[in-house]
Amino acid sequence: MRSLWSDSQAEGFAGDLGKRVYTSRLLGADPELVLHGGGNTSVKVRETDFFGESTEILYVKGSGWDLATIEAAGFAPVRMKPLLQMAEMPHLSDADMVKQQRAAMLDPEAPNPSIEAILHAILPFRFVDHTHANAIIALTNSPRGEERVRGVFGGAVLVVPYVMPGFILARTVWELIRGRDLAAEGIRGIILMNHGIFTFADDARTSYETMIDLVSQAEAALAAAGARLASVAPGAPDLLGLAELRGQVSRMQGAAMIARLDASEAAVGYAALPNISDLATRGPATPDHSIRTKRIPAVLGEDRRASLEAYAAEYAAYFGRHATGQTMLDPAPRVVIWPGQGVVSFGRSVAEADAVLDIARATWETVQKAEMTGGWQALSEKDIFEVEYWDLEQAKLRKGGQAKVHQGKVALVTGSAAGIGFACAEALAMQGAKVIGLDLSEEIVAGMASLGGVGKVVNLTNDAAVLEAVEGAVREFGGIDILVSNAGIFTAGQYLDQLAQENWDKSMAVNLTSHQKLLKYTIPYLKHGIDPAIVLVGSRNVQAPGAGAASYSCAKAALTQLCRVAALELAPVGVRCNIIHPDAVFDTKLWTPENLARSAERYGMTVEEYKSRNLLRTEIKSRDVGAMVAAMASPLFGKTTGAQIPVDGGNDRVI
Ligand code: ZN
Repeated sequence: MRSLWSDSQAEGFAGDLGKRVYTSRLLGADPELVLHGGGNTSVKVRETDFFGESTEILYVKGSGWDLATIEAAGFAPVRMKPLLQMAEMPHLSDADMVKQQRAAMLDPEAPNPSIEAILHAILPFRFVDHTHANAIIALTNSPRGEERVRGVFGGAVLVVPYVMPGFILARTVWELIRGRDLAAEGIRGIILMNHGIFTFADDARTSYETMIDLVSQAEAALAAAGARLASVAPGAPDLLGLAELRGQVSRMQGAAMIARLDASEAAVGYAALPNISDLATRGPATPDHSIRTKRIPAVLGEDRRASLEAYAAEYAAYFGRHATGQTMLDPAPRVVIWPGQGVVSFGRSVAEADAVLDIARATWETVQKAEMTGGWQALSEKDIFEVEYWDLEQAKLRKGGQAKVHQGKVALVTGSAAGIGFACAEALAMQGAKVIGLDLSEEIVAGMASLGGVGKVVNLTNDAAVLEAVEGAVREFGGIDILVSNAGIFTAGQYLDQLAQENWDKSMAVNLTSHQKLLKYTIPYLKHGIDPAIVLVGSRNVQAPGAGAASYSCAKAALTQLCRVAALELAPVGVRCNIIHPDAVFDTKLWTPENLARSAERYGMTVEEYKSRNLLRTEIKSRDVGAMVAAMASPLFGKTTGAQIPVDGGNDRVI
């Protein structure tokens, strides 16, 4: 590990708070030091308050901010005096601590100060840095942890046995350091057993570089002791198994979860360790990881279903052993170790699942290094429980708010580069789904990216390409819950005696057969989906055909029949299949103003009359169709299958 400090970069950050922002980002940039909101930093400054009085203030990381991307606004300005007064109190409840910290802020709109604010305040240095560095954890989480820390650092650090973070930790450190001159004693940092490390100095660079130096010493000691990581080449991924696993974990959680499979050599190697079910389940690297990863991962055995059931039962038992009036969280694992396949993480969004996976990676590295050099020993389950169910930590999770209707779901939408398909993808994405869009047009890539989804250029009449796209979606996100089969073409109008065979064949290939193939390839995964639904996009033409549209109408009519058969076949496995029959939408690129004017003239209408020639006299827009498709895929239509839903403003030939 080396210092990332650069004088020229540092110059761009003015003042003490600026330098605090700069070195906080340097810490945040290294996943070996902190991950996803972990760690915290502070700087003490003297400023003039609103009333013109000179006041000593602690700028400390606000909760909800990530060190990697923090800005000046991410630091809460807290008056030093009340923080130091709190450190003198023999007891202080969490609720009172949080309340008094907020009351001591100069700006009530600033974020909540870190729960370690008091500890930052009592350290008599202007800059204080705190991380959960992997190498430090690997040293401390072992049966002779304290001895190993002493062996590496000698008298250069204070060692603090594990206590709960927050007030108790601050109070413990205060008892240890009051009245001492740490600098004169040559003390450069504090090692918190089973938790992390603090460094400090009166300037930003020294505090940061002391962190780098101490953590590097720990890394060197581990390397010298022969620590290395397992590595096994991955085989073919078991995608059906992955979809089944995601389905079961989602049901245990009570909502759709995104699954991210890490099949790297490191992940497969870790999962293949002969003692993995013991090693992986001794506990987390640091207690606050348990908020995102739960205390331990699930390790799958031969019978995967039974392994997950046993995990849930054990989680309930763990809760029962330690609960003192709390409400149990869901019993679903967030990390699953799957021998032969790798490691799978779960979250309600891709970002959440990725954060869990980052923590899992840091954990398996730390666990292996510790195990090989002195033995891996995590904190007791009671200590972990107290942090997992600590109200201050639960508050971080509660900030999430009400979930969207398709949150955590994976939706495959075809023909979604523009028009109705894009509108469907947009509606699903806005309601929380991860959308994979397939289209012949290259615009699909940028279009889906604008929705936070993934766009792939695919010719849907090509079997191999369709199969690859379907498998790719499962590989990336763990399964498929929603299929919107929309891709279609409007073939030129030709009377039967003039109908070019090519016209007929092409309509059948795109408007019918491509949907049948897509169903064939997605159904095995949809069977394991969460509240799975298929929505086929038909046409008003099915019920109200027009002369000269044989190739289009017949294909769409057959697609409707395909929907009815699919509904019959899939009802026993809980997959719904419905079809929507939209009338023409005119808000697409297909309809230029000239085209519209020409068509309206043919009917002897104005353009406005032509666009709303239905019983309700209303224009059908792509967005109307998208909203209906998203609704048909939602629990709103949870009791409906095999249905044909018109979105046509009312049509006397259909009614
Ligand atoms: Zn910490």
